[in-house]
Amino acid sequence: MSYTIKDVTNVLGVTPKTCFRWIEDGLKIIPESKNPIYIHGSDLKEFHRLKNLKRKVTLGRNEFYCLTCKRAVSAKRGSVEVLSGRKLARCRACNGKISRLF
Ligand SMILES: [Zn+2]
Repeated sequence: MSYTIKDVTNVLGVTPKTCFRWIEDGLKIIPESKNPIYIHGSDLKEFHRLKNLKRKVTLGRNEFYCLTCKRAVSAKRGSVEVLSGRKLARCRACNGKISRLF
């Protein structure tokens, strides 16, 4: 089952802008699809499962959620950068990119 952006906005009651932000945040689209873009229902589910998981974790002041380790992690010393309202850093455990809003 696949959906267009329009279907997603109808089904989930979000704006197309939100959908495009999800895609930027890592929501997978069906590669050959451009106009319109198609999204697999299973990818949409998985994206929201991870999003909810992320939201449930309470982060300490200097903690980040690492998508690779799937848990709250500390940033590697000296790796924290502040960029347009976000903090970017490297995971101390796996050296992956991690980020959080303030
Ligand atoms: Zn990690």
